[in-house]
Amino acid sequence: MSFQAILAHKLEDGTVEASIETLDESILQEGDVTIDVEWSDVNYKDAIALYTPQIIQTSPLIPGIDFAGTVSGSSDPRFSVGDKVVATGWALSQTHHGGFSQKARVKGDWLVKLPEAISTRDAMAIGTAGFTAMLSVLALEHGGITPERGAILVTGASGGVGSVAVAILAKLGYRVIASTGKADEAEYLTNLGAADIIDRASLSEPAAPIAAERWAGAIDTVGGQTLANVLAQTSYRGVVTNCGFVGGRELPGSVLPFILRNVTLAGIDSVNAPQQVREEAWARLARDLAPSILASTVSEVGLAEVQGVVGKMLKGLIRGRTLVDVNR
Ligand code: NDP
Repeated sequence: MSFQAILAHKLEDGTVEASIETLDESILQEGDVTIDVEWSDVNYKDAIALYTPQIIQTSPLIPGIDFAGTVSGSSDPRFSVGDKVVATGWALSQTHHGGFSQKARVKGDWLVKLPEAISTRDAMAIGTAGFTAMLSVLALEHGGITPERGAILVTGASGGVGSVAVAILAKLGYRVIASTGKADEAEYLTNLGAADIIDRASLSEPAAPIAAERWAGAIDTVGGQTLANVLAQTSYRGVVTNCGFVGGRELPGSVLPFILRNVTLAGIDSVNAPQQVREEAWARLARDLAPSILASTVSEVGLAEVQGVVGKMLKGLIRGRTLVDVNR
């Protein structure tokens, strides 16, 4: 049976060319579960995949690191026809066909059955970004950071990970400080639950290796000088998570926050997160994130508009989450 998908070709000069194609199911790779994809979404990694040769390793390949849909065939006893499932990360969009497609086939090990409270559309409003936000919150909790300990900073707050992190933290009762470069998004961030907004420029310049304590913890999506400054301003026994590098891959700081303030820097990886961690995170997302709060963060596009969205994303111009209706 034929279906529509974005197919990306890696060219000899290192560029990636992608267009919508009508494909036959025979293109799908090995896997025990076949899924009628309903929704996908656009993450920063998708933007890198479609603009650089860094992510896609097999050509041609259907990009898209996330999808949610309904099982249409399964030889894995854990999944039956009609089950609603989500997949994020793993080898999707690297060596395995991903979510910008009406059909997918993957190992059952890559799938999580959606909790009742989360529809396939909600799952992609959350997506890798929201899942990563939840992993970051779990890391703060694991480090003993309760709402009583003090405020939590979120950097890249208007982005995908940042927006969901603000919403989850606020629902859990934390006082959230949102760092953003978009002054006109203050109301958006306040509606998600941010108590204070700061200009991201105040964290992006070289500064003292240790400074006055401002937050008990932080969810950092920016990296670079911003992360060094966030660490320098974290309270005694605080926890800072980092998942991203939109502001740089280097870490130009000092060890002083670690040895003088006992600050913990916790790395976050969503791609290869073990299944048990995934199930815990999705169960917590069902409990700690009202899907209605994400309504203001979400915009919807069809497969034909994905290329335009990723271009804006690389310029830091996207707010919140972009859903892809693969059947539009
Ligand atoms: P988005 O593009 O949705 O959001 C990133 C946000 O960062 C922007 O909206 C902007 O927010 C801010 N920003 C953009 N450029 C800069 C800059 N030069 N300096 C400082 N801030 C900037 O991306 P995502 O939220 O999807 O992802 C964020 C990061 O997390 C990316 O690096 C991504 O690769 C990474 N990531 C990692 C995962 C993992 O498993 N480790 C999983 C998911 C994402 P504002 O204007 O509000 O400051």
